[in-house]
Amino acid sequence: MSEHDGIRCEEVIGHLLHYLDGEIDAAKRAEIDRHLQECRGCCSRAEFEKALRDKIGKLGEEKAPASLKRRIKALMDAF
Ligand SMILES: [Zn+2]
Repeated sequence: MSEHDGIRCEEVIGHLLHYLDGEIDAAKRAEIDRHLQECRGCCSRAEFEKALRDKIGKLGEEKAPASLKRRIKALMDAF
């Protein structure tokens, strides 16, 4: 259906949060899984997002101190 083999990086990044939340259909998830295995950039991006979410999840997003939020934002911007 596409001339590409699988999906593109922008699409993976666009779906990443839903992917990590498990709020994505199985077909899309499989495509992203495959892309992450082959694409170093998206793979490290996914790892990064996952680690970040773990950290925020433990703190509770509302309770995250401003200094941490600033650091996270700086990390995001730098990525
Ligand atoms: Zn990629």
